[in-house]
Amino acid sequence: VGTLPRPAKTRIFTVANQKGGVGKTTTTVNLAAALARSGARVLVIDLDPQGNASTALGIEHRAETVSVYDVIVSDSPMAEVVRQSPEFPTLFCVPATIHLAGAEIELVSLVAREQRLRTALESYLSTGERYDYVLIDCPPSLGLLTINAFVAANEVLIPIQCEYYALEGLSQLLRNIQLIERHLNPVLKVTTILLTMYDSRTNLANQVAQDVREHFPAETLTAIIPRSVRISEAPSYGQSVITYDTNSPGSISYLEAAAEIAHRGAQS
Ligand code: ADP
Ligand code: MG
Repeated sequence: VGTLPRPAKTRIFTVANQKGGVGKTTTTVNLAAALARSGARVLVIDLDPQGNASTALGIEHRAETVSVYDVIVSDSPMAEVVRQSPEFPTLFCVPATIHLAGAEIELVSLVAREQRLRTALESYLSTGERYDYVLIDCPPSLGLLTINAFVAANEVLIPIQCEYYALEGLSQLLRNIQLIERHLNPVLKVTTILLTMYDSRTNLANQVAQDVREHFPAETLTAIIPRSVRISEAPSYGQSVITYDTNSPGSISYLEAAAEIAHRGAQS
């Protein structure tokens, strides 16, 4: 286990892309595991009603489970909802249950509806819970849940699938992030872009990767996540690929991405 530099203060990432199936959840879970493996304290907040991140981390999320829904809709303290992952002692998760599907509508009539996650997280972190990283897994939409994630974070990580339509919709996402920055969260910044599901045998994947690097030279990580069956199998064992198949190319690429993120944070 290589050690990585730890940030001076908690780095809070929203993992966002309004497209579904681009690798948001996979990236959240595996980066979190890779960072935790180096000894960092990491909190994953599952903000997708599907609860895929909770499942992948092996965290209970039946309908009766107290969850992120209770935190953002009913003001339950986050401390009562956080669960430790069975995989790494420094990896924790705020699970999502199916109730979260209704939150998008319930939030509309609540006071400070865009700030609810931020307020809950701030008060949890201020009680002395020391985390190095918080990673928020978003649903594939730009609704109030995703807005809550953007308002709670200081960094945005965008996973981009190396496929034809990858860049489509990206400018809309960036415009939305700019609006959030202007009106709701002035410190929010897109710091990290991660290319995922890369298949080096196709020209198209190479072309997309090259385009993204050209447009976002500072943000795009050198590490690139290959398309890998091991990555897609891991969640059905309630494990990250880091544990499921440590030496597989998918695991190694997420470990490399985590190291880059940690080193970049140390510089800034
Ligand atoms: P999102 O959260 O953006 O909807 P997911 O992370 O759930 O996307 O990924 C969508 C699907 O693609 C899942 O079935 C997942 O297992 C699979 N997948 C994600 N990344 C990879 C990869 N690098 N190689 C192979 N399959 C992947
Ligand atoms: Mg997802």
